[in-house]
Formats: sequence, C-alpha cells, structure tokens
Amino acid sequence: MNPEIAHPPVRRLALGNLELISVGDRGYELDGGAFFNVVPKAMWNAPPIADERNLIWCGLNSLIVRGDAGTVLIETGCGDKLTDKQMRNWRVDPRRDYLERLAAAGVAPDTVDVVINTHLHYDHTGWNTVRRGDGRVVAAFPRARYYTQRTELEHARRRHPRDAVSFLADNYEPLLASGQMEVLDTAAGSAHELRPGIEVLRLPGHTRGMQAVVIRSGGQTACYISDLLPTRWHLKPTWLMSFDLFPLETVDNKQAFLERAAREDWLVAFPHDPDWPWARVEQNAGRFAWRPEPATRESAE
Ligand SMILES: [Zn+2]
Repeated sequence: MNPEIAHPPVRRLALGNLELISVGDRGYELDGGAFFNVVPKAMWNAPPIADERNLIWCGLNSLIVRGDAGTVLIETGCGDKLTDKQMRNWRVDPRRDYLERLAAAGVAPDTVDVVINTHLHYDHTGWNTVRRGDGRVVAAFPRARYYTQRTELEHARRRHPRDAVSFLADNYEPLLASGQMEVLDTAAGSAHELRPGIEVLRLPGHTRGMQAVVIRSGGQTACYISDLLPTRWHLKPTWLMSFDLFPLETVDNKQAFLERAAREDWLVAFPHDPDWPWARVEQNAGRFAWRPEPATRESAE
C-alpha cells in the first residue's frame, strides 16, 4: 500500500450556503481487470495506475453535507464487521477508525441527521451499523434516518448467486427492523427531495436501484454520482466496472449524466477515486475530461 494515498486528507469546500466535507473510510485494492472490464489494460493503465499485482488502490469516499437542513452523510465505507476472510479477499485496509476520524473532522455520529446509501453493496454501507459488545448490531448514527431504494433492497434480499456476496444483511436489516431505514420508491431517472436542496436521483446500471445524490445551494450544484462513475479514470462512457449488472444502462445513464454535468458545471463527487473526491467535468469535441476542484480547506487527519 502506498502510504501517500492511504492517508487521504479531510477536504472541505463551500457550495452556496452548504459545507461539503470529504472523509473517507480507509480504502481497498481492486483488481484492475474487474475495475475496467473489457477495456484492454494497455488503454486503462496508461499512465500506470495498477501495481505489479494488477491491483489499484481505491478510496472509499464519504461526502458530508452540512447546512441549515442538518448534517447529511452519503455512503459509509466498508465498516468493521467484515470477517478476516472478507478483509483478506477484498483487500481492505485493516485500520477501521472511520468513526473516530469522522468525529475528529467535526462530524460526531450523534450529529448526523440523514444517511444516504446510494446502493447496498458492502463497500457503501459498512459503517451504517456497528456490532456492540453483546453481539447486537445497532445503528452507528443513532439519530439518523437512513435511505435506500426498494428496487435495491428487493435485489439484495433475493440473494442472487451473481452478487449475493456483495450484500451483507447486517448493514441494513437491523435498521429496517428498528424503523430507522426508509425505503424509497423513486422511478428510474426521477429525483426525490429528501431535504431542502438535497435529492436522490435514481440511475440504474451498476445496480437496479442505484441512486445518485444531487445537492443544490446558491445556484451551484454538486452530485455524488456513486458507482455510475467510480473514479476520474472512468470518464469514458463505455469504460465500466465488471460489477455492473446492467452495463448498457450504465453507458446510457453515464453519457447523459456527463453531458449534463459538463453543461451545467456540476461538481462531481466520486465514490472510489483515491486522489480526488470531487472534480468538474468538461466536454470538448465529444470527449469528457476532468478538472481538479481544490478544497477550500484541507487538513491531515
Ligand atoms: Zn457497488
């Protein structure tokens, strides 16, 4: 593991009247082939991003939105309930100190009002819950309302052999049982407002129920695009991860999203980029490019 990128700083940015804070769970390594599917390595690895084992260091980026409507946390990383075997197979950084680092950044668990899971995969929901000393699994954010989509939950519960391994029931079933997780019925391509200026936008492709989060304030827009666009390396609409269940829908939704993000100058937040939690997107002669968006404040953990 490269220690340079294994310690992402806490980054802060103003968006109108809101404050955006990027705090990641410690990251993991993904196989380059799985990360870029049918794209030849000669293309995705120039310049090189994989190590000699063909692994790519990836971030687990959460985005916190803070404003008059409260504190909203988008995505909760891998958590600390994984077995040793899961930690090994998924190559997760063993340091499980996300909640402490979140608190150090000023986001104590009991100050979070809303948790949005863009989908229910283990690497987006892990810190939703924690296991107490008595073995009971409880909400890590005791005051928060959690949100997911019904299509996502139904698929997770179906336990299809293709991807059942990616859904860990302890990350969401205890919250459904306690009534803390709300299940939304947002139509594909439609948006649903959760708080003033914060809406979920359902964009199938990676999974059937995946929802992006659109944040608006003072005439500016940001979007946590989730696994429709995992890193800045996936800007080409046809460069998909092999995990995607509906790849044609990913291509179509990504193309439309990128055109809109470029046209309307949206700040785009990536879930797995190890270096840049957010960037602007530009479209020039049909090609998409990214432009870094420096943080207004950056601090070591
Ligand atoms: Zn995913």
